[in-house]
Amino acid sequence: MIVFDLYCDQNHTFEGWFQDRRSFDIQKEQGLLTCPICGSKNVHKIPSAVTVCTRSQEKSPGKDGDTSENALKEVLNKIYNVVKKNTEDVGMGFAQEALKIHYGVAKARNIRGVATSEEEKMLKKEGISFIKIPVPSKKSIKDH
Ligand SMILES: [Zn+2]
Repeated sequence: MIVFDLYCDQNHTFEGWFQDRRSFDIQKEQGLLTCPICGSKNVHKIPSAVTVCTRSQEKSPGKDGDTSENALKEVLNKIYNVVKKNTEDVGMGFAQEALKIHYGVAKARNIRGVATSEEEKMLKKEGISFIKIPVPSKKSIKDH
């Protein structure tokens, strides 16, 4: 047996049980598939959700943990890239800009930047929420 998540043209969702994948197509072709809520014959399969694969961490327990560390770095990189794409870099002016946005002086938008711990304390006091993410060190900084 195989179970599919189905929906009709009225956006009702329900489960359908079938012998196999082909049974769904056959039953649909023959008009045997109907929505249990409204009786519509326009029934479709909900595409299965994208599965996020994480690297198995149990593979080598007790080892150097390099794999999970790399996986973590990869995740952080992805987060950073998303943040980068969706925020405006205000650099050192982060705290000031956050305050301006908070008080409606500046246009509301997502910003990223750098803040000193003093500034962070001040922002927290003002009730401004922010998150800190580690910036991946892609370029190894070298002194020439
Ligand atoms: Zn329906």
